[in-house]
Amino acid sequence: MIGLTTTPVPLAINSTPYDGRAACARCRQCVGFACPVEAKNGSDTTVLARAAATGNLSVLLGTRAERIVTDATGRVTGVDLVGDIGGSRWRRMVGAYDVVVAAGAIESARLLLASGNEREPNGLGNAHDQVGRHLQGHLYGGAIGIFADAVNDLLGPGPAISTHDFRHGNDGLVGGGMIANEFVPTPVSTFGYLRQAGLIGPHGLAAKQGVRHLLPRMQRVVGPVQEVTSADNRVRLDPTVTDSLGIPVARLSGRLHPNDLAAMQLLGERAADWLRASGATTAIAYGFPPGNVAPSSGQHQAGTCRMGTDPATSVTDPYGRVWGHPNLRVIDGSLHVTNGGVNPVLTIFANAFRIMHTWVGSGGGYL
Ligand code: SF4
Repeated sequence: MIGLTTTPVPLAINSTPYDGRAACARCRQCVGFACPVEAKNGSDTTVLARAAATGNLSVLLGTRAERIVTDATGRVTGVDLVGDIGGSRWRRMVGAYDVVVAAGAIESARLLLASGNEREPNGLGNAHDQVGRHLQGHLYGGAIGIFADAVNDLLGPGPAISTHDFRHGNDGLVGGGMIANEFVPTPVSTFGYLRQAGLIGPHGLAAKQGVRHLLPRMQRVVGPVQEVTSADNRVRLDPTVTDSLGIPVARLSGRLHPNDLAAMQLLGERAADWLRASGATTAIAYGFPPGNVAPSSGQHQAGTCRMGTDPATSVTDPYGRVWGHPNLRVIDGSLHVTNGGVNPVLTIFANAFRIMHTWVGSGGGYL
């Protein structure tokens, strides 16, 4: 007994048939793959599907927003689009009464930065050099446990139990993180985990047999670290490199904070304690990605257009409206002041609904 307080893991997956879609079929490839029965509740299966059903939604394929256009007062009047059809480049401005930017923390910041004009040469909402700063992601800490008997039924999605005991109140640390048993791994990711833990060799028959033997006897317990924010972790426009449609690409810079690495180590040690108490004969703590010191924004990006009440230290007001642009909103993880020690998707959903309810509740106008 190690006395952890535990809770189920909210996954935004249909556990029973819901909204015309099936319950999870418990396949073995949940993360990173399309759901074969549409049990996942992503924007594609929920809000976009509902919007399409109204007949008022258009989705433009092969098209990118190049810049947001404003008038002399800062009011947004439209968006410049660029696309490619069969190698033929086209450009068009689409007029808009309201614009919502929801492209994720890297691309939303990139679009605001790329939309500079005479009035705001450094990008929209960037009078105080805040757009793109405080980029966060999630460093992961955890442990891999090996048991004498098969313990993993390999039925997806996998996570069923978590503890939030280490998210806050850890001696000498700011923040911490949730840890949970992990998603059912694919064979190739199993190979990577076992290899990183030094439990199998790099190749050959012995490595193959090791994966086969250890896969059902392996359980990982891992979780995301609440990263300490830093203004130096940021998204900027690359001055020389452009994408296939001629738009400057995002350049990321910054470093993880020493506190992040210490929290990662703590989560790994506590996860190993959990696995040993559960009967693991081997429990090895490790961080993910291994040896990482750069911004961990490969997933769960957040924080580049932080909301706040002071235009000097934030990009938007508490309702996602970009300072100086009453009809331009950012509604995604970019608004997060900190990213927390859990997957941020439910917070992104909740914040989006909070903002939209306030907006629609005001009759579609401005508060
Ligand atoms: S495990 Fe994930 S991908 Fe597989 S059926 Fe369930 S929700 Fe869909």
